[in-house]
Amino acid sequence: MPRTVRQKTFYSPAIREVEVIDAYDVTPGMRRIVFGGDQLRGYTTEDGIEVPAFRSDEFDDAVRFLFPTPGEAEAILPRQGDGELIHPSDGRPMVRAYTVRYWDPAENRLVVDFVRHGTGVASTWSARCGAGDRAHVVGPHVTDAHPENIDHMLIVGDETALPAIGRWIEDHPRGQAATVIIEVAADADKQEIPAGPEVDVRWLVRGDAPGGTTSLMFDAVAGLDWPDGAVYAWVAGETLSLKAIRRHLVEDRQLPKSHLEVAGYWRRETVATLADDPALPDASEDWAEDKFHEMCELLPPIALRVAVTLDVPEQLSRGVGRLDDLAAATGCDRAALAKFLRYLITADLVEQDGDRYRLTNLGEQLTDDYYAKDLHLESPEALAERALFGLADAVRTGRSVYADRFGVGYRDLMGTHPSGGRYFGDADDFANYIAPTLVTTDVFDGLDHVVVHADGGATYATKLVEANPDMRVTIVGMPAQIDHIRADLGDTLDTDPLFARIDLRAQSVFEELPAADGVLLVSMLDKNPDADAVHLLRRLAATGAKLIVVEEPLQESTISDHDTMADLTNLAVYGSGFRTDAEHRALFTAAGLRVASAQHIYCGETVYTLA
Ligand SMILES: Cc1cc2nc3c(=O)[nH]c(=O)nc-3n(C[C@H](O)[C@H](O)[C@H](O)COP(=O)(O)OP(=O)(O)OC[C@H]3O[C@@H](n4cnc5c(N)ncnc54)[C@H](O)[C@@H]3O)c2cc1C
Repeated sequence: MPRTVRQKTFYSPAIREVEVIDAYDVTPGMRRIVFGGDQLRGYTTEDGIEVPAFRSDEFDDAVRFLFPTPGEAEAILPRQGDGELIHPSDGRPMVRAYTVRYWDPAENRLVVDFVRHGTGVASTWSARCGAGDRAHVVGPHVTDAHPENIDHMLIVGDETALPAIGRWIEDHPRGQAATVIIEVAADADKQEIPAGPEVDVRWLVRGDAPGGTTSLMFDAVAGLDWPDGAVYAWVAGETLSLKAIRRHLVEDRQLPKSHLEVAGYWRRETVATLADDPALPDASEDWAEDKFHEMCELLPPIALRVAVTLDVPEQLSRGVGRLDDLAAATGCDRAALAKFLRYLITADLVEQDGDRYRLTNLGEQLTDDYYAKDLHLESPEALAERALFGLADAVRTGRSVYADRFGVGYRDLMGTHPSGGRYFGDADDFANYIAPTLVTTDVFDGLDHVVVHADGGATYATKLVEANPDMRVTIVGMPAQIDHIRADLGDTLDTDPLFARIDLRAQSVFEELPAADGVLLVSMLDKNPDADAVHLLRRLAATGAKLIVVEEPLQESTISDHDTMADLTNLAVYGSGFRTDAEHRALFTAAGLRVASAQHIYCGETVYTLA
């Protein structure tokens, strides 16, 4: 089955200045603006680009008006390029979509109907404009031909869809049967649109209820005697209120997606208004859509990592600016690198001056090791983050996706990967933050021999033996971790008397452990899914040693996007995620253990002692 039964045609993107010829109310709730202007007939730009005449062929063709930001005199406009619009990088206009109610090429008249809905850039502009005022429109960029081979059109919409619906009723293919359902605010907002006998027009009046809040359209659709034959449904109006209609058409009426079009024409939301003009929204608040748009982009975070991995920023900052030189210095394919640089230019990270590329101020950040070390695709961070491509599986199953995707578990990989040294080194740095405070708590009082199981284990061990002159410590870790400690400490291991009291054991914590009266686990539960964490706790408890667990519980009241990102990354990597205090306690209970004490140390780390 085709994806849609409406054939798409694209028009060359064009921006035009139009002039208000007339402005009047069609109904109390609908303002009609008649536009003219030479650019509707097509024009030639100063740099010789031919812009074709305005064109609109179908009932739901739409243009986009580009308005100034409220409070500004002029809109920030794109420049007409050859078959494209070139957008300035330093701002955007307020863009609002409107249907072409009529287009009369002979008279050069474009008619647009604006709903009067109170505060709004477009709505207010239409209410205030008068003959001679000017505006800018782009589009239509695309038109969808009338659906083919259908027996019945079901058309549903509120007043924002009324211009399209009116145009359909007037222009529809001869004899096309249809049911048309239109919701308006009041009886006075119904429009006289002559329809043939094959078109059943039903008006719904919502009265005092605000637009987008009633179930009138849904009720009307759900209550229809469903027409025979192939039905095409076109539905437009307030985005959220259309969801129920869509679900009904797909699930209850079994309408194939190729025969269904549900278009959110506006979204009911609260906007802040300008203090001195409440009819206009405060554009500084108009960021939600931008934010969403940015969130949809997958390439920027990947491109940053690729740039660092290929050493492009570093080479550029060293003045290797010509494409040939840069390709040679980075070992890249010249043509592919040119494409990549082209993207980096549009992302404002690189600029070009003649045949030389260089970093912008923003791009300079990529040479800052603080960022670069984590962005490199072979860094421990990036090697963990790649598990996010399996997040759907992780969320579905609650399990780690790492070994399935990459053939080896993440910590095992760190044991063999060249960046493993960084991984363990970072763990040492972290241990240096918390160990000094940790060892001064009373949880180690009276212990003679402590087994330490933690990344950064050598740091905890040395701080413990420093603080407790009679204590012995055994560090238990995977072979690579123990190797890292040996390599890191070198001769100190043999010469420093402190290490006479520290043993290193390359073994799994699940194997038999040396006899000890204390076990310290730091950030190990968050690297194990619940079942494994419970198993680990049970095994350690079975040794009879005092269990000391250090974790950083998620604080739900202050949770940030960084916390939730780390949580999901950990879920995909280890099948665990980060746990709240309550979730930790549930684990302990599941392992048959009781929290004897819990104390907060450095930066949200909590030390639990378990009995
Ligand atoms: C393809 C397409 C075609 C469209 N055709 C038309 C058309 O021909 N005529 C038309 O009037 N609209 C049409 N719309 C809808 C129109 O683009 C939106 O209503 C738009 O938000 C209006 O912009 P604004 O600057 O007036 O208000 P905004 O600045 O976008 O919004 C300000 C406030 O007004 C509210 N609001 C926006 N629209 C409405 C509304 N209709 N009723 C009640 N509250 C509202 C918002 O929730 C917000 O609180 C179309 C939309 C699309 C996508």
